[in-house]
Amino acid sequence: MAKPPANTGVALTFMSTGTVQIRQLMKNQPMTNRNVTMRRLRAMTDPHWSSDLPIGVFLITHPNGPILFDTGESPCCNDPGFHPFYSPIKLFSRTRVAKEDGIVSQLRAQGVEPKDLQAIVLSHLHGDHAGGLEDLAKAAPEVPVYVSAAHWKVFGNSPVSATIAGCNPQRWPPDFAPRLLGNADGAVGPWEKSTKLTADGRVLVVDTPGHVPGHVSLIVRGDNEDGTQTTYFLPGDATYGLDLLDLEEPDGINDDPVTALKSLLLIKEFARQGDVVVLPSHDADTPRLLRDRVVYKPKDP
Ligand SMILES: [Zn+2]
Repeated sequence: MAKPPANTGVALTFMSTGTVQIRQLMKNQPMTNRNVTMRRLRAMTDPHWSSDLPIGVFLITHPNGPILFDTGESPCCNDPGFHPFYSPIKLFSRTRVAKEDGIVSQLRAQGVEPKDLQAIVLSHLHGDHAGGLEDLAKAAPEVPVYVSAAHWKVFGNSPVSATIAGCNPQRWPPDFAPRLLGNADGAVGPWEKSTKLTADGRVLVVDTPGHVPGHVSLIVRGDNEDGTQTTYFLPGDATYGLDLLDLEEPDGINDDPVTALKSLLLIKEFARQGDVVVLPSHDADTPRLLRDRVVYKPKDP
């Protein structure tokens, strides 16, 4: 994998902590499938599986220190007893993670010591996004971890329901107490509020709920070698692919497809307002979209 540029500007690197297959109807379903229980049943029983998808993590180089967006899956995720017996995770996903795929190994391969991170931001706490926290907390206990206040309210205080919803709080760091994103900064694009992660406003967090309550995405203003800038939108799991964004079909496993669709429409609106490279966490095309800085041109469904 290419090394990130020298630590002088803002740049993005994509890493994948192993691969995952998910059931096809978990990836997307039309809004005409209105009943949430039926959507989820279809998502958990579809005999058709996706191809191998990345379990994406973004490393953002920044003059004040690197930032991590999500932490990927744990290399121990297939060990017996890793997930509680009542976790539904194996019903809809098949994950492959080698030991060297873990986020701490991958950061060091990029020349980044975990303790030098200025922040870790999680799109949400599902196992394939928060699975690296355990190792990161051991390697770099001082680095602040951010989640949205809305997400923590739902997932932070109820380990059983968080597990049933696809998290693995048993493997979060001891006494895990993330910092909560305040959403106290101004409007950006079609979003009325945002959180500036860096004082220069080059890395911003915006709300994209629906996949789970309080899911967030990142806007990064990156520097190019020729002195120009590129705007990146990192939607996490708000969509699994640009084709699904065009189709305006949210995932099949969430419990609020109407809210998930609103988030998709905001992302498309943002992309209509100006050039933006949209990089979903689980899109096999994301490495190419990032390398070639392919601007997303929204299409109507
Ligand atoms: Zn995910």
